[in-house]
Amino acid sequence: MATVDPVPVRKREAPAEGRDVYDITLIGAGPVGLFGAFYAGLREMHTKIIEALPEPGGQLAVLYPEKYIYDVAGFPRILAKDLVRQLVEQTMAFNPTMCYGERVLDLKREENGILRLTTETATHWSRTVVICAGVGAFAPNKMDNPTITRFEGKGVYYFVKDKRPFRQKRILVVGGGDSAVDWALGLKDWASEVTLIHRRDGFRAHEASVTELMRSPVHVKLFYELKELHGNHAVQEAVIYDNKTMEEMRLPVDAVLLSLGFRADLGPITEWGLHIDKRSIVVNGRYETNIPGVYAAGDIAAPADSVALSLIATGFGEVTVAVNCAKNYIDPKSRIFPGHSSEKRL
Ligand SMILES: Cc1cc2nc3c(=O)[nH]c(=O)nc-3n(C[C@H](O)[C@H](O)[C@H](O)COP(=O)(O)OP(=O)(O)OC[C@H]3O[C@@H](n4cnc5c(N)ncnc54)[C@H](O)[C@@H]3O)c2cc1C
Repeated sequence: MATVDPVPVRKREAPAEGRDVYDITLIGAGPVGLFGAFYAGLREMHTKIIEALPEPGGQLAVLYPEKYIYDVAGFPRILAKDLVRQLVEQTMAFNPTMCYGERVLDLKREENGILRLTTETATHWSRTVVICAGVGAFAPNKMDNPTITRFEGKGVYYFVKDKRPFRQKRILVVGGGDSAVDWALGLKDWASEVTLIHRRDGFRAHEASVTELMRSPVHVKLFYELKELHGNHAVQEAVIYDNKTMEEMRLPVDAVLLSLGFRADLGPITEWGLHIDKRSIVVNGRYETNIPGVYAAGDIAAPADSVALSLIATGFGEVTVAVNCAKNYIDPKSRIFPGHSSEKRL
C-alpha cells in the first residue's frame, strides 16, 4: 500500500503561469463525488469536480433517474433524480468549481508532488485527487451512420443541457427510455412540434411518463427508426422508416435528439499506474491508492482486505474517510477527524 508522502504545501498558492492549484479534485460527479466535494468544502479545501457528462448524478442520473431508492439513511424512499438534486444543493453550499463535459484522460504526479490532470480540453492541477469514477465515464451511444454524425453540433444532440436552442423548433426524439420520454415531454410546450420514434412498442421509461406521453401532443411513432439526415449547414430533414414494412417517410426537422442510452468505460484510468484489480482501484484503509495524494472511493474503490459494496451508503462513508485523510495529507497538522457538522454554521 501507499506510504504517505505529504506535499509540504500548507498555503493556497496564487495562480502561477495560469495554474490554479486546487487542494482537492474529485473525478466524477456521481453521488460519491458530490458528497466528497461537500466534505471537502466543510474542511475549507479549495475544491474542484471534473465530470465527463454535462450533468451531475452518475448512474442515478443516467441509468435510473425515475426509480425510488430505499436504502439511503434518512430517506425512507427517494427518487434517484431527487437525491441528485439534494446532493447538488448540499455540495454547492461551498461553491466548488464544477467542470462538466470533461473526461479526465491522464493523471500524473509531478516532481513537486502536484497532480496534473489532463482532459480533452484543459489541464488541471491539484494537491490531492479522489477518484469517484464509479463504473467509468459515461458516454452516449451514437449511431454508426455518417449522414447522422456529421450533424453533431449542427442540429444533432445527445443531451439537452439547455432548452433555449429548441425554442419553436421541429424536434425529432429517437429512443424509448426515460430520457427520450422525459425530453419529449419537457420540450413539447417549448418546441413548435415534437415527434418521438421508437423501434419497438414497449418503452423502458417509467409507466406514468409513458401514459403522459401518449396523452400529450407529441407525435409518437412506434416501430420507426432513423435512416438518415439531410441538410446543408444544419439538419433540415430526417428520413425515418417503419421497421415492419420498410416504408420510408421524410420529416422536416430542425433538431434531432438521439437518446440511445449510455455505455460506461474505465478507459484511461487503467493507464495511470494505479493498482487495479478486476476493474476496481485497490485502496488501503485511508482510501489511498498506490499513488501518493491519490484516493479512490465509491463503486470504483476496492479496499484491500475488506468488503466492497457498490452502494451509495457505503460510498458516502468511503469518500468521507478519503477527503478527511486528503486534508491531513496536505496539512499534516490538521486532524483527520473533521469535528461535528452540527457544531458548524453553514
Ligand atoms: C439500476 C440501478 C439501481 C440501483 N439502485 C441502488 C439502490 O437502490 N441503492 C444503492 O445504494 N445503490 C443503487 N445502485 C448503485 C449506485 O447507483 C452506485 O453504487 C452509485 O451510483 C455509485 O456512485 P459513484 O459516485 O461511486 O459512481 P457513479 O454513480 O458511477 O458516478 C461516477 C461518475 O464519474 C464519471 N466519470 C467516470 N470516469 C470519469 C473520468 N475519467 N473523467 C470524468 N468523469 C468520469 C461518470 O461519468 C459518472 O458520472 C443502483 C445501480 C443501478 C445501475
